[in-house]
Amino acid sequence: MILKDKTTITFYNGLTTIGGPMIEVAYGHDHVLFDLGEVYRPELALPDENYRTLIQNQLIGDVANFYDPKITGVVLDTERWQHAGAYLSHLHLDHSKALNLIAPEIPVFAGPLTAKMLPILNAAGDFLLPAAGRQSSYTRPITAVEPGETVRVGQISLEVWSSDHDAYGATGLIVTTPDREVAYTGDIRLHGYHPDWVKQFLTRAQHSDVLITEATGYSWPEEAASKDDQEFQGPKSETELTAEVVELQKANPNRQITFNTYPTNVERLLQIMANSPRTVVLHAKRAQLLKQLGKDAYYYYLPREEKISELNPKLAIPYSQLLQDKHEYLWQVVDDFASLQPGGLYLHSNAEPLGDFDPSYAPFVQQFKELEIEFRALRCSGHADQKELAEIIELVQPPTLIPVHTLHPELVENPFGKRILPKRKQTITL
Ligand SMILES: [Zn+2]
Repeated sequence: MILKDKTTITFYNGLTTIGGPMIEVAYGHDHVLFDLGEVYRPELALPDENYRTLIQNQLIGDVANFYDPKITGVVLDTERWQHAGAYLSHLHLDHSKALNLIAPEIPVFAGPLTAKMLPILNAAGDFLLPAAGRQSSYTRPITAVEPGETVRVGQISLEVWSSDHDAYGATGLIVTTPDREVAYTGDIRLHGYHPDWVKQFLTRAQHSDVLITEATGYSWPEEAASKDDQEFQGPKSETELTAEVVELQKANPNRQITFNTYPTNVERLLQIMANSPRTVVLHAKRAQLLKQLGKDAYYYYLPREEKISELNPKLAIPYSQLLQDKHEYLWQVVDDFASLQPGGLYLHSNAEPLGDFDPSYAPFVQQFKELEIEFRALRCSGHADQKELAEIIELVQPPTLIPVHTLHPELVENPFGKRILPKRKQTITL
């Protein structure tokens, strides 16, 4: 009797944490791994980010036959595994930081913007974990896969789809083996700039046997309940957020207004730049990031900062002019907060520090109080809330649902079939 191969899925990490999913799909002698991030837990205050430390603290998955043997000390079993490939869905560190740990001979695939931006973001060597024997600024090669295109890893194929999240160029994935199909959302939402892309991807996923979805929105059940009785204020979509930034400028014609956003949320920044009545001025480093993506922006240098040669000098605004301004500029502040005008307004739009869970957040907010500057958090989540997740699941109607990337996977229901709540390191045979 010949035993037929069966598709298996192994869940290595990121099941009951927000971020860091590491999942392997295997068939016969072929296997693929996604995503490649590190769980973000600044409160652990770890002494280092070495491989062993990350494994011991469950910040990355204890995955065999994918990591570089120079890092693990264990050779890849190429008899057992003839073809291997890895994929990362988007730029956020909880999905990308361990990219350089993947063995150099294993191809890594990502959408085109993700593939382009990761080396740029890591140019200073402070974004990704370092590759063995390389400078920290090194980023291993990534193969860009155009949305809608398919790449093969032995008998497994990977189909990359455009999606929407607060990371520029985020994608979703369909994994097809000879006997099964698995859809993986990456991080996803319906209230961003491209709900149409998300719906196209989910419509394609209707053929899948399994939907692995992020379910961040189920992590805080009490907060979600209070959202219904209007305690929750602030923008509900990216479009509303941009509108609020514009409104605040109109409502404060004679006041210094500064802001900051998260670097990988390029689209939000472009929208703010395109719609603001004031001239938007970026710190030179952020302007450089946009320049590398083919976009020009006004920019400034902090005192004693080195000039960046690729930036157009005609777009430079003197820092002293920004410090004195009350009506012409909306500018990105990144440091030297004590030089801002008392009575000013600062918009913190999902910039770092990100929130209460980061020990540096409270002192960051407090400094504005002491400087008599109004601090306003203007957030818009990168993740579907519970209502949107129900809509996502309804669109796909998956025979099997596997929620990951959430503090409460047990709260996510599948009215259309089975639901599996895997344990860390558990393998499921489909
Ligand atoms: Zn993300």
